[in-house]
Amino acid sequence: MSNKDSNNRESEKPIKKRPRIFLSAPHMSGREQELVNEAFASNYIAPVGPMLSRFESELANIIGFSNVAALASGTAAIHLALRLAYVQAGDRVWSSTLTFIGGVSPIIYQSATPVFFDVDPFSLIDLDLVEQELERANANNTLPKALILTDLYGHPCDVTRARKICERFDVTLICDSAESLGSSIAGQPAGAGADFATYSFNGNKIITTSGGGALASNNGQAIQNAVKLATQAKEPALHYEHEMIGYNYRLSNICAAIGVGQLEVLEKRVARKREIFNTYRSALKDLPGISFLEEPPGTKSNRWLSVIFLDPDKHENGPSRTIAALEAQNIEARPIWKPMHLQPVFKGAQYFGGERANTMFETGVCLPSGTAMTKENINSVIAVIQDALT
Ligand SMILES: *Cc1c(COP(=O)(O)O)cnc(C)c1O
Repeated sequence: MSNKDSNNRESEKPIKKRPRIFLSAPHMSGREQELVNEAFASNYIAPVGPMLSRFESELANIIGFSNVAALASGTAAIHLALRLAYVQAGDRVWSSTLTFIGGVSPIIYQSATPVFFDVDPFSLIDLDLVEQELERANANNTLPKALILTDLYGHPCDVTRARKICERFDVTLICDSAESLGSSIAGQPAGAGADFATYSFNGNKIITTSGGGALASNNGQAIQNAVKLATQAKEPALHYEHEMIGYNYRLSNICAAIGVGQLEVLEKRVARKREIFNTYRSALKDLPGISFLEEPPGTKSNRWLSVIFLDPDKHENGPSRTIAALEAQNIEARPIWKPMHLQPVFKGAQYFGGERANTMFETGVCLPSGTAMTKENINSVIAVIQDALT
């Protein structure tokens, strides 16, 4: 026994720390394990099987599309959407600058050129600006092949309007609904009506399959092609015949079983996320210089992440101070996603707009919004913020 071990270390014992509060931790319903067992019993430990089909058809019902392909990630879904829109080297793809990298990196996988757009006050792509620039691009012969909308932090884009604009210029409309499953606009599910909508079931999303995604469309042939591309683009021949290059992008039947269990509680999760946002708002709204990411008119956001903004005139370095104060209490918070036109990897990319996305980035904080958070957890977050900002 070493000297160190023989010491009475009782007095040095760390105080039992509260477990870390995450931004958006996975939250199982309790049914998933049973469904995974069912998948095991069937021995479909493979990227096909009954759970995969079940997950796809149940998801299709919820998101308002006739056809769905379940995939390995949301990023894979965007990539396939671009393939199906025939995006090739040198083509332009327009996108919101305020998005997550996985929603736009597939533009580069296709050797296409991203063009970024500023957002409106609700963090969604500025469609007035997009329409105006499409008219100009049409005149200059520089139209994009596709437009990617992002439903940031659960706020659904106005797909009906975007669709009208895109149809005029023959541009494929892709809605990145990775963050907005369970949200709706004018009573329609987020993403519905786009040529393609994409979803993510990564661990931090409102529901998870541990990792996964989906591509949806009302074009059944397109989704059939997506499935073919997602499974190595095999032609119908026993000897593995290939006429084009595909990917290994399918979701596994086991992960789909987790997804089936998660879909059962999606509505509950949305209700809880909205409750968490409302709790933050009521507790913090009277602090000076604080505001909240507002729900776009006519929409119901799933409030995937609760977002606050801090007026720089009232709070010097407000976001970084708040995030640091939370971190000191073992609580995870993050700035708003950094706009793509400011990312080193997209240096030199064309950008239309002003400072709106950048201002959101500089003043915004994403607060812990996990649906499994307890009342005490939420109160700790509130207390730290009140303390940091007064
Ligand atoms: C999470 C996310 C993605 C990527 O999804 P993965 O499943 O992690 O590949 C794409 N776009 C947005 C807006 C996201 O939030």
